[in-house]
Amino acid sequence: MTCVVPAFARASAGRRDSCFVWKGWIRCRITNHERVIVNGVMRMDKKKTQKIYKVLTENYFHEEAFLVNSNPFQLLVATILSAQCTDKRVNMVTRDLFKKYRTVKDYASADQTAFEKDIRSTGFYRNKAKNIISAANIIIKQYGGKVPNTMDELVTLPGVARKTANIVLFHGYGKREGIAVDTHVKRVSYRLGMTGETDPVKIERDLMALFSEDKWGRLNNLIIEHGRKICDARKPLCTECVLEKLCPKAGVDEK
Ligand code: SF4
Repeated sequence: MTCVVPAFARASAGRRDSCFVWKGWIRCRITNHERVIVNGVMRMDKKKTQKIYKVLTENYFHEEAFLVNSNPFQLLVATILSAQCTDKRVNMVTRDLFKKYRTVKDYASADQTAFEKDIRSTGFYRNKAKNIISAANIIIKQYGGKVPNTMDELVTLPGVARKTANIVLFHGYGKREGIAVDTHVKRVSYRLGMTGETDPVKIERDLMALFSEDKWGRLNNLIIEHGRKICDARKPLCTECVLEKLCPKAGVDEK
């Protein structure tokens, strides 16, 4: 790790190097700055991360899941449907879907062609229908009709990767095993310099190292709201952004 403190500052502090590592954080004895280390690479300043979280919580207040649901199974179905689709569209589709299919058994015994028709407007409807019907059957056979509540079990269900599992765990069961990385989290966390990765699993790993566990569940909602309202994919409104002073705007000028 290269010390960024100038030699004269180190000399006047009587130290040859200024860093020490503790629990994944690197701390400078001279400047007192703390940075997180992810896979041997220094990332964001710890205080800056805390400040970003604080500013987001002061500006965004949506705490429930964006996908309308009244139980973990409905949440699972809605989250599978939300792949490559907007939450608004999913909520429109599930308004009728949840009236037509009321129990896990209704989904498990659904006619695939009819189900495809019911969810068609969410896109990728053949795969989504197949996955939801198979997941319902597995949930009945292996989990007594109840959606499992661990990451390891959830990711074995068809159509369920870590993002979906994290959403179901947090909003369905109040559990935090990771951070849901969707398109907004991917884009905004990169621009903010919280990750240099583009693979969701690696982004999640970086964010989990930066934020304490109690913040994992809410972080997804906060970043989604910020991404939708301000840090737009095509046209980020940097001059109106509450995070502007904290943001290196990675990749923004390149557009
Ligand atoms: S300053 Fe710009 S790039 Fe950074 S978070 Fe705000 S809108 Fe996004």
